[in-house]
Amino acid sequence: MEINVDQINLMTKKGLRGDLKNFESVLDFLEKYGNATIVKYGMYSLVFQIAMNKFIDISKECEECGGKCCQIGYPVPVYGFDYEELRNKLSMEDLKKLEKVDSNLFLLRRPCKFQKGWYCSIHKFKPYACLSYPFATEDEQRDAINSYDGKGIPDFKVPEYCKAGMRVKHIMNQIITDLTNKLGRPPTPRELYNELKSRYYKNEETTSK
Ligand code: SF4
Ligand code: SF4
Repeated sequence: MEINVDQINLMTKKGLRGDLKNFESVLDFLEKYGNATIVKYGMYSLVFQIAMNKFIDISKECEECGGKCCQIGYPVPVYGFDYEELRNKLSMEDLKKLEKVDSNLFLLRRPCKFQKGWYCSIHKFKPYACLSYPFATEDEQRDAINSYDGKGIPDFKVPEYCKAGMRVKHIMNQIITDLTNKLGRPPTPRELYNELKSRYYKNEETTSK
């Protein structure tokens, strides 16, 4: 069966919300192209993203932070596939908070009007850019993307104020070190994911804000 880009994006979102079957299907799909440097980079990024969204409880760090990622930075991109989900969930009034660029791109200015205290009031259907923060956020990761040569694990950047991202990166680095010692080489994205899952899997709701 042919899978188009929007389907992959929606499967990724479902996966990051905790549906591991969808997440693993995305990894299966990407593995077919896993020799390409950019795909390999993307797969490692996804494993860090699911660590942050599903496996590692970062709620304490986010609460203490107060949700700076929803307040600071460039506008959040909301793509066509995000908008299709939001269109069915939000009131007309709330939809007006999204600024239309074209039919496939909207923007959410920060500070984001959906933030309530430290929490996201549309957490269950927030855009992919929010789910993937900070490990796929373009303004944070530009240097990591440009410097990645396909060898080893990308050096993802985490803003100083993002203690949740720092904690996830620290835990992931520990897992990577353990696996590298065991295997005698850096783990593939799938090996990293499997080890993360074996250490942190609990059948429960997602953990991020
Ligand atoms: S993800 Fe990072 S920046 Fe965002 S609320 Fe949590 S700690 Fe703060
Ligand atoms: S949609 Fe939610 S997670 Fe995204 S910036 Fe707004 S408040 Fe933050």
